[in-house]
Amino acid sequence: MTRHYNFCAGPAALPTAVLERAREEMLDYRGRGLSVMEMSHRSEEYVAIAEKAEADLRELLGVPSHYRILFTQGGASQQFAAVPWNLLGKGGTANFIDTGIWGHKAIKEARHLFGEAHVAASSADHSHLEVPRPEAIALSSDAAYLHFTPNETIGGLAFDYTPQVQRDDGSEVPLVADMSSSILSGPLDVSRYGIIYAGAQKNIGPAGLVVVIVREDLLDRARDDMPSLFSYRELAAAGSMINTPATYSWYLAGLVFEWLKSDIGGLEAMDAINQRKSDKLYAAIDNSALYSNPIAVANRSRMNVPFVLADSRLDKEFLAEADQAGLLNLKGHRSVGGMRASIYNAVPEAAVDALVAFMSDFEQRRG
Ligand code: PMP
Repeated sequence: MTRHYNFCAGPAALPTAVLERAREEMLDYRGRGLSVMEMSHRSEEYVAIAEKAEADLRELLGVPSHYRILFTQGGASQQFAAVPWNLLGKGGTANFIDTGIWGHKAIKEARHLFGEAHVAASSADHSHLEVPRPEAIALSSDAAYLHFTPNETIGGLAFDYTPQVQRDDGSEVPLVADMSSSILSGPLDVSRYGIIYAGAQKNIGPAGLVVVIVREDLLDRARDDMPSLFSYRELAAAGSMINTPATYSWYLAGLVFEWLKSDIGGLEAMDAINQRKSDKLYAAIDNSALYSNPIAVANRSRMNVPFVLADSRLDKEFLAEADQAGLLNLKGHRSVGGMRASIYNAVPEAAVDALVAFMSDFEQRRG
C-alpha cells in the first residue's frame, strides 16, 4: 500500500494515523460488534464519541464556556444562508469584507435571501492580491454583523489581522468568520468572534460536516421564519441532534482532534509546523525563475499556495510528472488555472520537501 502526497484543496488529506485508527475500529468499534456508521446517534456509545469530539475541540481552540459548538451539515455554503437567517432577526444589515470567491458567494447569498448586503471593504481594487487595511473597513450604520473570510482558499489570500469593529456609538459589531480553510492551523482567540464556521473537509475531517462556534448571546437574534435545521438556537438546544447528524464524519473529526492533541502536541506546535511548511514552499517559488505567486507577502496563505509557471504551456507536463512522482492534486482551481498546493495540517512537512525537490528538478530540466 502506498499513500501519495495529496495537495487537494478539499476534500483534503487526512492524517494517516487517523485513517489507520478508523480502519482498526471500522468493523468492531471497541468490542461493541458494530461500526460507528451503524450506531444510533442516540446510543450511549455514539453520544460519548460526539461529546468527546466537542470537548477536545473546545480544549484545542480554548473555546470559552459562553460559546456553543454545533456539528451541523450542508457544507460551509449553507452557512452563507444560515448566518444572515440567524443574525438578522432583530433588523440591521449584513456587512462583508470581500476578499475573493468565497467571500463573494457569501455576499451573493445574503443578497439573494434578504435583498441587501453591505460591502464594508473589498480587495477587488487590488485584484484580490492584498487584503483591505483595517482603516478601510466602512460599516453601514445599521450593521448587524461583519462577515469575512480569513483565508480565501482559491486565491491563497489570508488576513494578517483580525478586524475589530464597532458601531459609531461604540457598541460591538459581531465578527463572523468563514474559517473553512484555516481553522485549527494555529492558535485562535475565539473571544474576538461572534461566530466561526468551517466546512470539515480541509482541517477537520471528511466532507458532510460543518462546525459552527457561536457566542451564546447571539442565539436569540434569529428570524422567526427560518428553517429549524438552520437555527443555531435549535441546534444548540438539541446538542446538534435535531435530526440525524453526519455521525461518521463527526467521529472522524474527533479522531483528528485527538491526533492534533496527542500526536502533534496542540495548536502551537501545529502552527510552527505550518509556518515551516509554507516558508519552504514560498521560498522555493520566490527563488525560482519559473514559478511565481503574486500575493502580497504579508497576506500569503499558509494553507493554500497558488503559483503559476512562467510558460503555461508547461502546465500539463508539470502536472503529469508531479502525479507520476506521487504528488497529487496540484492543479489550480478551474476559475484561475495554474497550480495550487494546499498544505493543510494533515499534509506532512515531508510532502512539502518532496514538492520543493520536484519543482526544482522540473525547473532544471524544463525551465
Ligand atoms: N468557504 C471556503 C473558504 C471554502 O474554501 C469552501 C470550499 N472550498 C466553502 C466555503 C464552501 O464549502 P462547501 O463546499 O462545504 O459548501
